[in-house]
Amino acid sequence: MERYHIIKQVGEGSFGRVYQAIDHLTGQYVAIKQLKPNCHPMSYLPEVRALQILQHPKIVGFKGAERQHNTVFLVFEYMDGSLRHLINHRLRMGVPFSEAEIKFFSFQVLQGLDFMHRNRRFMHRDLKPENLLVNKHGVLKISDLGSATEIESDESLFHHHYVTTRSYRAPEMLLRMFLKNKKLRPFEYDEKVDMWAVGVIIAELYLMRPLFIAESSADQLKEICKVIGAPTWESWMNWPKLEPEKGFGFRALVTSASESALDLIESLCSWDPSNRPSAAEALRHPFFTRGRNVLAPPPGFSRCPRPMMRYVVNKNVPKMTSMQQPIY
Ligand code: ADP
Ligand code: MG
Repeated sequence: MERYHIIKQVGEGSFGRVYQAIDHLTGQYVAIKQLKPNCHPMSYLPEVRALQILQHPKIVGFKGAERQHNTVFLVFEYMDGSLRHLINHRLRMGVPFSEAEIKFFSFQVLQGLDFMHRNRRFMHRDLKPENLLVNKHGVLKISDLGSATEIESDESLFHHHYVTTRSYRAPEMLLRMFLKNKKLRPFEYDEKVDMWAVGVIIAELYLMRPLFIAESSADQLKEICKVIGAPTWESWMNWPKLEPEKGFGFRALVTSASESALDLIESLCSWDPSNRPSAAEALRHPFFTRGRNVLAPPPGFSRCPRPMMRYVVNKNVPKMTSMQQPIY
C-alpha cells in the first residue's frame, strides 16, 4: 500500500471505509475501499469477481485488491461523487435537474445495465443514487457490485432476501420478504429488479426526493399501490388484497416530466417484471431517441468542464498541480 497516499475519507459502509488517494506510480487519484480487519473472504470475493467480469466504461473501474497484514483494500478509479451527492448539492442550490440532465444520467445507467444484463448475464440488485458515481464531466458509472450476482444462479433464488435498499426494491423482492415470513415458497426474480430501480431513480431525479419511502416492506407495497394501483397480475393472487385498485399515477406526481419520460417511468415501474422494458429496450425509448443527442453533456457540464468544484488547501497533501475537491 506504500504506492498510495491517502488524502481523505469519501465514503463509509457496513464493510469499512472508502478513501480518496493518490497513486504515486501513475500520479492519478484512486478510491480505496478498506475492508474491516479479518473480514471473511466471502464478504468481498463475490464483489471482486463481479468487478473483474463487469469491466465496462459505465461500470466503475477496478484496479485490483491488496492485502496488508489482516486488512484487504480494493482499489478503484476515483470518481468525484455519487448521484446522491449531486442531488443533495442541487437541493442546497435550489436548482432542479433539467430533463436533458436526467436523460444524460439515466441513459448512462442503462448503458451499463445493458452490458451487465445482456453481455454478462449479471444483475446488480442494489441500484440507488449512492451507488451511481459521477465525475466532474458528468460521466456516470455504476458502482458497488457487492450484491451483484449471475441472473441464472441459484444464489438469486435462495439467498440474499434483503438486498436492495427498500426505496428502490422491486415489488417481487418486497413480496419475497413477506412470503418468507409466512414460510411460503418465495418468488424468483431476475434482472428486471434493476429496471424497477431505474424507474424509481428517474422519478427521483425529477422529484428531488425518493419516490417511495416506507418503514417496512408491507408499507412500501402500500406506498407503491398509492401511485400505480394494486396489482392485477395473476402471480399476486396469494397476496392479501392490496388497495387502492387505482393509484393516482405518475402524471399527478411527477409534474415536471414530459410525456415520454412519464411513459418510460410507468413502464419501468410495472408490477409484472415482464412488462418492464429491458435495458436495451429502454435505451431505444422515445425519451432518449427524440430531441437532442443524449450522449452530449447537457449545457452546464459542457460549458464548465469542472462544475461544482472548488480548490482546497490541505497541508497534509503532497504538492500537486491542482488539488480539487468536489463540493457535492
Ligand atoms: P457500500 O457497500 O457501503 O455501499 P460503496 O462501494 O457503495 O460501499 O461505497 C460507499 C461510498 O463511497 C459511495 O456511496 C461513494 O460515496 C464512495 N465511493 C465508493 N467508490 C468510490 C469511487 N470509486 N470514487 C469515489 N467515491 C467512491
Ligand atoms: Mg453503496
